Amino acid sequence: MKVGIIGAGASGMMAAVTAAEYHAEVTLFEKNDRVGKKILATGNGKCNLGNLDFSMEKYYCDDKEKLEKIFSRFSVRDTISFFEENGVFLRNKNGYLYPYSEQASTILDLFRKLLQKAGVSIITSCMITDVSFDEKKCAFGVRTEEDYFEFDNLIIACGGPASQKKGEGTFGFRLAERFGHSLKPQVPGLVQLCSKDSFIKGMAGVRAQAELQLSAENTILSMQQGELQFTDYGISGIPVFQFSRQAAYALREGKKVTVEINLFPDYEEMDFRDRMSARFEKMKEDTLEEFLLGMTNKKISTALIKYAGWKTDDKVSSLGYRRVKELLNLYRRLRVHIHAVKGMENAQICAGGVVFNEVDDNLQSLRQRGLYLTGELLDVDGICGGYNLQWAWTSGYVAGRSAAINNQGDRKSDRK
Ligand SMILES: Cc1cc2nc3c(=O)[nH]c(=O)nc-3n(C[C@H](O)[C@H](O)[C@H](O)COP(=O)(O)OP(=O)(O)OC[C@H]3O[C@@H](n4cnc5c(N)ncnc54)[C@H](O)[C@@H]3O)c2cc1C
Repeated sequence: MKVGIIGAGASGMMAAVTAAEYHAEVTLFEKNDRVGKKILATGNGKCNLGNLDFSMEKYYCDDKEKLEKIFSRFSVRDTISFFEENGVFLRNKNGYLYPYSEQASTILDLFRKLLQKAGVSIITSCMITDVSFDEKKCAFGVRTEEDYFEFDNLIIACGGPASQKKGEGTFGFRLAERFGHSLKPQVPGLVQLCSKDSFIKGMAGVRAQAELQLSAENTILSMQQGELQFTDYGISGIPVFQFSRQAAYALREGKKVTVEINLFPDYEEMDFRDRMSARFEKMKEDTLEEFLLGMTNKKISTALIKYAGWKTDDKVSSLGYRRVKELLNLYRRLRVHIHAVKGMENAQICAGGVVFNEVDDNLQSLRQRGLYLTGELLDVDGICGGYNLQWAWTSGYVAGRSAAINNQGDRKSDRK
């Protein structure tokens, strides 16, 4: 069986190794000069390749039942076995899995070794320009800038536009459309949020443990807790990444999006209130700057004083308890108005993509038999924590295996 794979990213390399293991003659095309470049950037260079805390709740997908079935064929356990059996020690940090070396290059080097040993023909610096299906020959034609290849089965593993230069990375989507697939609108995921609120700039550079509540038109969409980062354009950090795709879709629908920040998530409301009224009684004669000393990072307090309309040397007693209380409330309910998410080029993943019910349980296209789609190309994405690479390994394995053994006669186009 001749199998062509477009894209040597995480899912494409896994598909290639698997298809070769099932005795296919595999050709892997990559537009970059090396395979798997993106892997080097994952997990801040450490490659968070999976997570033991695995459930369907970690994924966004329109058909979780089918997704779960696919994951059961190459699970987190299989990911662990795959890497360990190939000699990679793994490190478990509270369930987050990394190579023991904490070097993403370990994973890339492993794939390069496996591809070579499996006899996969790798063609790099090779941009695929066109793909067609010849009904008579029952074969896929793949055109590059200089050559033409034919395959029995074809896997599109091109990924999406996330972390690519503006306007790039949509080739896979266009190709899928050409074969009759429909696309769910794509938005950046695992990305920073932008705000024009005046106080944000004053807090830029500060990191704080916080609880965050994302709302659109007063409906709560998500709650997250973790290390928040204030930046000169808005907010960032893992908790922000986790709900950024919901913010992106809400903004796309023209909704008003806000994030309410609680900088004292460790304190109950009543406890915080009691402490603040005691503080007021004790420090009435302080200036606001003195009064707020020790609450949080000084930059936050200074920005909040300004935002509330006061000066750092204003006396607490001159404001009175009601105004001071309003100021203190900002530490628990700081509302940030979000006007945009950062662009696709800053995103770790692209949410949306090829509609999931247009592929079968083997990730074979229901529009064109013999054609497979993997990874980010499909409308499946996970939260931060190794879940997207897990999807890349699983989808690559499932598609690679099926493409290698699928020689059913009926590969005629089902396109309408
Ligand atoms: C900075 C960053 C950090 C991340 N960290 C993590 C992490 O720690 N854990 C985690 O689970 N996920 C992480 N991710 C997400 C994860 O990397 C992706 O979800 C995953 O790589 C998607 O795999 P894929 O095979 O679908 O696509 P990709 O890995 O993007 O691979 C697609 C490949 O296809 C090639 N290609 C595209 N078009 C063509 C063409 N026309 N011809 C030939 N080749 C083509 C591309 O060059 C690329 O090599 C991170 C992403 C980024 C950007």
